[in-house]
Amino acid sequence: MSPQHTIAIVGSGPIGSAYARVLVESVPDARVIMFEAGPQLTETPGASVRNIADPEEKERARELSQGPQAGALRETLGIPSSAVVEGMFTARQGTHLIDFGGEGSGHAETFPAGAASTNVGGMGAHWTCATPAPSFSERVAFIDDAEWSELMEVAEGLLHVQHAAFADSAVGAAIRSLLDDEFGAELPEGFGPSTLPVAGDPQPDGSMRWAGADVVLGPLIDPESPLSKRFELRDLHLVRKVDLDGDRVVGVTVEDLRTRQVSSVKADLVVVAADAFRSPQLLWASGIRPRALGHYLTEHPVVVTTVALDGEKMSRLATEEQLDEELARRALNPVDPVAAVNRIPFSEPGHPFSLQVMYAETAPWEMPPEAKHSGNRWGYVNMGYGMRKQPRFDDGVTFDDNELDYRGFPNMTVRYELTESELAEIAEGTERLRRVADTLGEAIAEPRLLPPGSSLHYEGTMRMGESDDGTSVADPWSRVWGYENLVVGGNGVIPTATSMNPTLMSVALAVRGARAAAERLAD
Ligand code: FAD
Repeated sequence: MSPQHTIAIVGSGPIGSAYARVLVESVPDARVIMFEAGPQLTETPGASVRNIADPEEKERARELSQGPQAGALRETLGIPSSAVVEGMFTARQGTHLIDFGGEGSGHAETFPAGAASTNVGGMGAHWTCATPAPSFSERVAFIDDAEWSELMEVAEGLLHVQHAAFADSAVGAAIRSLLDDEFGAELPEGFGPSTLPVAGDPQPDGSMRWAGADVVLGPLIDPESPLSKRFELRDLHLVRKVDLDGDRVVGVTVEDLRTRQVSSVKADLVVVAADAFRSPQLLWASGIRPRALGHYLTEHPVVVTTVALDGEKMSRLATEEQLDEELARRALNPVDPVAAVNRIPFSEPGHPFSLQVMYAETAPWEMPPEAKHSGNRWGYVNMGYGMRKQPRFDDGVTFDDNELDYRGFPNMTVRYELTESELAEIAEGTERLRRVADTLGEAIAEPRLLPPGSSLHYEGTMRMGESDDGTSVADPWSRVWGYENLVVGGNGVIPTATSMNPTLMSVALAVRGARAAAERLAD
């Protein structure tokens, strides 16, 4: 059958990829074209750069993702050199700040760590791969339990989620046991300390091959699969506008960043999955401006600390031989920050936080040899509490038609404020983090609240809602209110206050949105 329906997807991160996968698999006559503004970093499109063994190659891949902050490589992205300013607030590797301080920079004084990635695979080429599921009020109330469970199962399959990663680590088990003794009795059944689910494939040597958009695309990027014939990924293609004819979308206007050529591509369905800031920006630039667009921004305020594990406590639960085994496994990939990851998930009413506890054999910074916990034989944990930010109209990103950013889009201004009750919850979480530290050993850093934007989990700016009452951008199936064939995807669609890493939830919502869009195309 020759393809009848053309579907344009903007953005190649895990969410655009989930849309592509479900749509190609469920609409037999569909051809999907995915447009990605950034370059392809790895031979397999969208693979995690954390799997790149060579440090220089890894560094280059990260730099290529950094858009206006891409240093000497920015020219390959078509970014003018004047957009770069040295010495600004540093972004996480592989990301670039919204407010980078140079010409054409966004304005985000109150959200200084707000960042994005511009590359095939999006942030999903750089993420830590933590994939906890939302629970209690984090969930979307209007999706019933049975459907939600099924969606989570499919999303976990798409992301290759492992529930028992590093479960055989004796060090990890000892940490869990200490946490359970201290906190277990106060937490609801099933919400005590446990291993953190992560996305990746365990390797025979005990290491992980971390998942990126590559595994979500799966057969679409396997030349042997017939499905790959109906999928096309165009990197370094910036979508400038969603083209409209009344309440219908008719395609997209795209700039090829290699040639600077601009063309129109016709489409029967457009999916915008270009992150929680640039998706609303693209809609705004296209004249699609629901009242809630860009508003209701939430993330997770994050409080972090590092603890030197107490040798006496740990050695009651794990042996020296088991520690040596753990160290030998870690030596296989010492730059991988993820090993023996535990958590205490969100639960209500008593624990409205997500704790993540990552074992590391070395401290995250160099300590003088005479420092009390330098070279701690049992190692360290880096840990943090994710807290809630409640959705408020006033928090969000607005766009200025009269000031263009470095890409020529209406420039962004992010406004964000923590309220009294959120600060109180953060203070409570910080106290709890101190208690976790005392349970495991001794904190070697004062717990600190990271600057707003640090979570890299930006939600709410295209939130879904049950009715078109001005407090949401999309319907319960992620279709933009008032447009029959325009769908949005990504963390921006999440309408609730959450404390956990959101990608799994956004993939689940994408599966739901893609299935509904497939049904509409079949009508
Ligand atoms: P993205 O992955 O951001 O992809 C969007 C893509 O759209 C980008 O590649 C961008 O270049 C492209 N784009 C934007 N505008 C245009 C345009 N106009 N035309 C064409 N293309 C465009 N999440 C978790 O759940 N767990 C974690 O452990 C975790 N750890 C993280 C660690 C790091 C260091 C980072 C950077 C992120 C982490 N995240 C984590 C966040 C996670 O990566 C994101 O939730 C996820 O990637 C979102 O997927 P997405 O497809 O919506 O957007």
